Amino acid sequence: MAPPEDGTEFTEEVKAAEAEKKPISTIVFVIAMQSEALPLVNRFQLTEDPDSLFPKGCPWVRYHGTYEDLHINLIWPGKDPVWGVDNVGTISASLVTYASIQALKPDLIVNAGTCGGFKAKGACIRDVFLVSEVAFHDRRIPIPVFDQYGVGARRTCSTPNLLQKLNLKSGKLSTGDSLDMSPQDEASIIANDATIKDMEGAAVAYAAGLFSVPTIFVKAVTDLVDGDKPTTEEFIENLGAVTAALDQTLANIMDFISGKCLSEL
Ligand code: SAH
Repeated sequence: MAPPEDGTEFTEEVKAAEAEKKPISTIVFVIAMQSEALPLVNRFQLTEDPDSLFPKGCPWVRYHGTYEDLHINLIWPGKDPVWGVDNVGTISASLVTYASIQALKPDLIVNAGTCGGFKAKGACIRDVFLVSEVAFHDRRIPIPVFDQYGVGARRTCSTPNLLQKLNLKSGKLSTGDSLDMSPQDEASIIANDATIKDMEGAAVAYAAGLFSVPTIFVKAVTDLVDGDKPTTEEFIENLGAVTAALDQTLANIMDFISGKCLSEL
């Protein structure tokens, strides 16, 4: 499509409509934990970028490679320089999403990882969910309108064909910066009508939303928040099997996406 003859630039809407019809080419995975990322790195034989795209001093790691027509980038926020553990949570998730968008201009972001599930809402260990809506559960600001800003509920980009073809579960995701759940968090999670909870999703959605980059959320259940076992114990027990299930689903998603444009998802 040629630019308008009156010399004006394309509007954002026109650009978005054009992108909908172009085959998806550059994909950015945002994955918080190394143990969630490595199965995908191995499967697609992604290599670590020696000259990091990111500013010196950032612990963030980019792996990249190609699969069919897709340029795959996997961004892992690395390990905390002081404590040596994975940089989980909303701060690192939003920072790496922002930086990856600036550096790579992705057609699609995939935030993938583990999550807690609510069995009362139909979640089971090892289920893989494609998220329909995200919101925060630990940003309580009881002032009109700020309350809704805090919750930050937003719908994710609609992918009905992907959902149907891969036979995934669909549900709402609630995000907060704690692995456990305080009584206030619980009330917010119920208000958010969430089936699963994690520590990154809504933050990735916020950063991607600033630049209107379509994003999907693929979350696999490691622990049942309303189950009988302590969360940490259950998380560690299931992590290996669940990351394998997540890896397989992500591979199926790549197969489905390859050669398609956004409007076909
Ligand atoms: N105990 C773990 C720490 C994992 S932190 C360890 O030993 O390494 C939890 C990570 O898994 C976050 O990235 C979060 O998004 C996800 N997660 C899994 N279950 C969760 C739950 N019940 N609540 C919140 N996040 C959860």
